[in-house]
Amino acid sequence: MTSTRIPMRPRRVAVFSLHTSPLEQPGTGDAGGMNVYVAQTARRMARLGTEVEIFTRATSSEVPPVAELAPGVTVRHIVAGPFEELDKNDLPAQLCAFGAGALRVEARQKPGYYDLVHSHYWLSGQVGWLARERWGVPLVHTAHTLAKVKNAALAEGDKPEPRVRVVGEEQVVADADRLVANTEAEARELVTRYDADPEAVSVVPPGVDLERFTPGDTAEARRGLGLEPDAVVLAFVGRVQPLKGPDVLLRAVAELLGRSAELRTRLRVLVVGGPSGSGKERPEAMEQLAESLGIADVVRFMSPQWGDDLVRVYRAADLVAVPSYNESFGLVALEAQACGTPVVAAAVGGLTVAVADGVSGRLVHGHDPADWAEVFLSLIRSPETVAGLGAAAPDNAARFSWQRTTESLLQTYAWARRTFRGLSAPGEATA
Ligand code: UDP
Repeated sequence: MTSTRIPMRPRRVAVFSLHTSPLEQPGTGDAGGMNVYVAQTARRMARLGTEVEIFTRATSSEVPPVAELAPGVTVRHIVAGPFEELDKNDLPAQLCAFGAGALRVEARQKPGYYDLVHSHYWLSGQVGWLARERWGVPLVHTAHTLAKVKNAALAEGDKPEPRVRVVGEEQVVADADRLVANTEAEARELVTRYDADPEAVSVVPPGVDLERFTPGDTAEARRGLGLEPDAVVLAFVGRVQPLKGPDVLLRAVAELLGRSAELRTRLRVLVVGGPSGSGKERPEAMEQLAESLGIADVVRFMSPQWGDDLVRVYRAADLVAVPSYNESFGLVALEAQACGTPVVAAAVGGLTVAVADGVSGRLVHGHDPADWAEVFLSLIRSPETVAGLGAAAPDNAARFSWQRTTESLLQTYAWARRTFRGLSAPGEATA
């Protein structure tokens, strides 16, 4: 791969991904889009000539202190607290231990070893802030999700994000040299809800692996999953947690079958992903919901899938549903479209950017299962509409790529380095 010339490109970046490792399987627990983002951009950054060292908390005594993710990409496992037993909510108490571990790693290197710190999620941002001060390098921060935005659109029964997170995010926003937002809307949220300096925010859309996620033979994908060739297949892919609204899909399916008895013999619903979050909507709870709705015979719950197995799910589906209450972007929506499958998504956050309404899928306002059932039914009854959306979907997905994301990040890093004024940032007055 040729190297794009970007002046002030860092030689080596310390990436902080404290609460979840890019080596973990996404789609369960705390591992999701952020893991994919960090791994995909790090690989490409290294190929473009910027080395990446990813700092993450060791979640097992078995992991080595240092592991190679790809040429030029190192994962450093930092011991901070008991390995397995900690929940994400326990991690604010481990920031000091993690920070100390990261500083110790740097102290063993030549001076000026890292040119820049990029932190992902507010917990990493807190440590990134410290590293910035200690190492005298710029801090670029990506929030991935924001507590104030999340709390403004909670799923029913979901717990609000705690105040400690809101305060922590405010501090990081004030002290980072540059903030990376996935969308223009997220950039506005940073400015209006978190008082970010608009000049300090770069909009960098995430991407999709366009080599892995490609259209393919639907019949073959269905055979591989033991699905009938003429079935109507709906799929949900993602961490099973209230925020993602898997229950909305199940309730909509119940409604759909209530309206069209004929569909019961043909409809198949795949729910792919592992337990995550506050636990109310763990797969078992979803299985019980499917039972109580009388639709268990059409729903199949599948453990998290990866690689070709995940591609097979997207290809087998007529429609992929993303009924999230909040989504800072929604990589699943891009991946499904890249495979030629239209997406029916909630009109929230990044999904309104990822899905072109009426072109590559449909956006649904609200989470009323009746509305969702209506959209599914109208599409199921019009296979030619679904075929048209599916045909347009890969081009819509191709507007995004990890290569572009990576190049934009490198531009952002260069900008942060050029404008870095040492340690007299506006956030210095932050309490
Ligand atoms: N994912 C996966 N296997 C699964 C479910 C999800 O690899 O069984 C991946 C999926 O391909 C996507 C990521 O997890 O890349 C989820 O990202 P998204 O932005 O949709 O949601 P997030 O988890 O960040 O909330």
